[in-house]
Amino acid sequence: MTPAPYLTDVFDRPMTNLRLSVTDRCNLRCQYCMPEEDYLWLPREDLLTFEEMNTLVGLFAELGVEKIRLTGGEPLLRRDLPLLIRMLATNPRLNDLALTTNGVLLADQAADLFAAGLHRVTISLDTLRPDRFTALTRRTTHARVLQGIEAARAVGFKGLKLDTVAMQGYNDDELIDLIEYGKQVDAEVRFIEYMDVGGATHWRMDKVLTRADILGTLSHHYGPITPLNENSRAPAERLMLPDKTVFGIIASTTAPFCRSCDRSRLTADGMWYLCLYATDGLDLRQPLRAGASPEALKSLVTRTWQGRTDRGAEERKALERNGVRGALVQLEGLRQDPHLEMHTRGG
Ligand code: SAM
Ligand code: SF4
Ligand code: SF4
Repeated sequence: MTPAPYLTDVFDRPMTNLRLSVTDRCNLRCQYCMPEEDYLWLPREDLLTFEEMNTLVGLFAELGVEKIRLTGGEPLLRRDLPLLIRMLATNPRLNDLALTTNGVLLADQAADLFAAGLHRVTISLDTLRPDRFTALTRRTTHARVLQGIEAARAVGFKGLKLDTVAMQGYNDDELIDLIEYGKQVDAEVRFIEYMDVGGATHWRMDKVLTRADILGTLSHHYGPITPLNENSRAPAERLMLPDKTVFGIIASTTAPFCRSCDRSRLTADGMWYLCLYATDGLDLRQPLRAGASPEALKSLVTRTWQGRTDRGAEERKALERNGVRGALVQLEGLRQDPHLEMHTRGG
């Protein structure tokens, strides 16, 4: 098959990567993502069916998207998710079909996900200590996350990744333990700087464990760290320890990488966002359900991507005064539009 020509935006960034949020619901309440007591959920009738998701993904793939990441909320809460994976896995234009999960339900579902054709799994793991997990997530399911990681390995997933939001005063003393755990389970650990995204209403700059902090701690313990200097659009910068262990840092807060960003996000109710920080999205559900032709939908997507100028994280950084900035959206704003929430938009 001829590869799709790349659709590029105003800054010549290709549209190759789509994050598909399959639900806004979650079974954890991570303080950096869902710190409130109650939330406004997307109406059930607005949620795209698997057929609708598959149709939209198919159109995106015809326009050049090659990589799909299923996310949420917690994607494993979406009933029968392997059915969607089966549909997507038959699309020859997609060369990467990945999932990001908090791992709580992974032990139950890993075998079905693998059998359905999912290529890769990333599991969020911020701590190895059950008490800290409970304090952070307000749930007591830490052991199940670890079982989920083991199960993913056991059923045959290769190239597991563990994503850790690194926070001052929370897990800054666990970086080495997490790297060692990653070695044990054959997974690459990626440290993510705490971001001031929608939903992170408790965000403060002094809670961010920066790329420089992370490198300082790891090089102090392990010795010199070598950058892999890959020519990639992936958000993680990959680095190597002296023993050749590879790990990643996603420095969205202190060193944003918007200039190479090829990602957009589709929410579970069919709103398409060109940036994690975008306040407005394009409603694709409405025209899809109104019977718009594939050509009309593709032309809508094409025009929108061609006009894209988003550089959300860089713009947030530019707002800093003396290294300080406030949260992105206040609680009232989130209450008015749940699409601004990270758990709706998909991380
Ligand atoms: N529920 C799944 C999970 O937690 O893996 C998938 C959705 S979650 C929104 C995707 C990723 O976003 C997770 O790795 C999570 O740690 C990350 N995330 C959420 N809020 C964040 C924040 N304020 N800063 C940095 N990363 C964040
Ligand atoms: Fe935590 Fe992911 Fe749920 Fe957000 S969506 S609360 S990051 S598990
Ligand atoms: Fe891409 Fe927006 Fe994230 Fe920048 S902030 S890397 S433009 S999604």
